[in-house]
Amino acid sequence: MNTTENLERRTPVAELVETTGHAGSEWLARYSSSLMGVFGTPQRVLVRGAGCLVWDADGKEYLDLLGGIAVNALGHANPFVTSVIASQLATLGHVSNFFTSPTQIALAEKLLALTYAPTGSKVFFTNSGTEANEAAFKLARRNTGGGDAKRTKIIALEGAFHGRTMGALALTAKEAYRAPFEPLPGGVVHIPFGDVEALKAAVDDTVAAVFLEPIQGEAGVRPLPPGYLRAARELTSKAGALLILDEVQTGIGRTGKWLASQDAGILPDAVTLAKGLGGGFPVGALITFGAETSSLLTPGQHGTTFGGNPVATAAALATLHAIENQHVLENVVEVGEHLRSALAAIPGVTEVRGEGLLIGFDLDADVAPAVVQAGLDAGFIVNSPGPRTIRLAPPLVLTTAQADSFLDAFPAILQAVKDAQ
Ligand SMILES: *Cc1c(COP(=O)(O)O)cnc(C)c1O
Repeated sequence: MNTTENLERRTPVAELVETTGHAGSEWLARYSSSLMGVFGTPQRVLVRGAGCLVWDADGKEYLDLLGGIAVNALGHANPFVTSVIASQLATLGHVSNFFTSPTQIALAEKLLALTYAPTGSKVFFTNSGTEANEAAFKLARRNTGGGDAKRTKIIALEGAFHGRTMGALALTAKEAYRAPFEPLPGGVVHIPFGDVEALKAAVDDTVAAVFLEPIQGEAGVRPLPPGYLRAARELTSKAGALLILDEVQTGIGRTGKWLASQDAGILPDAVTLAKGLGGGFPVGALITFGAETSSLLTPGQHGTTFGGNPVATAAALATLHAIENQHVLENVVEVGEHLRSALAAIPGVTEVRGEGLLIGFDLDADVAPAVVQAGLDAGFIVNSPGPRTIRLAPPLVLTTAQADSFLDAFPAILQAVKDAQ
């Protein structure tokens, strides 16, 4: 694709914001004087995307191997998702939750079908991952395990990331995220990651819920050990505690399955979704399994203005439809396996983790942030969740040829960074 042509393409948005003719450096100066500094300085100013490619304000092209952090499931500007969103917006853009709309209902039904939810299971829609976990936190607060006593204790894991709002932050383990905002909602206990004995010791009949990510994304793509989810299901069932799986990052085809937890052969009490669900449009969901769990939150106990919005739910329906009908899950398995085995063979790569197109790999030196920068200069977007860890969460439609272009370039990128140290 011709770069000049990309920059000269005018859209109605250009009537409001002049998106061309300004250098990235100029945008970044305006950014720093107008945007709150919570994200640090953005790496680039992106103006356009198509499939797995994006272009910045200076006309440079990138292969997007991060996909908005596991969000752009079908890549950028997917024509089908775009047309569904546009037509829904032009038909009915928003209604209050005093009303409902066909796309909201159809998406709930679709999610229940895809997750093999038993009769009585229900969905609550949100706008983000953290809000889905807030809803799950409130659900946990209503669980008494069938008894009369209120339960306030919640178990989460060391390394856990569940979001940044106060309830989700209480579930999140990282001290640097938590400490400035204490006191957080109480009762959350973090136990060692992947340790069944620690879980056994922690789960008793005072516990309201256990929150788990099948693969910890922000912690560097760390899968729970085999058997852990099954043990968690047995222990929580026995104690009358809810098993709540945060699949905000791992769900919606990311691992080559609709849910990463699918192969464990268990039925959780609840699952939270967001990132990939809307194919780039903001939408999240809490799914509760079975009639009992689904009736813990009663009328008036929770709500949201935008949750279940017709446009957001249409975007998610379009995304699920495309994943289902365009062999996307097969592609995720195939390209993911290819990437992992090729990465493992690159000198300086010490460990490769993950499933499908959620991949973390470790380097033999603390150079990951520098590798991210060098990757950008070479035209690749990747991310470093740790000092020696690189994460890939590309669009689920990444081709083998695109993966190969990164695999071919990576050894030289890594070597150049090490040489410069
Ligand atoms: C990203 C993420 C969240 C938070 O989602 P937001 O949409 O950023 O609020 C929660 N849990 C997991 C596992 C995530 O990866």
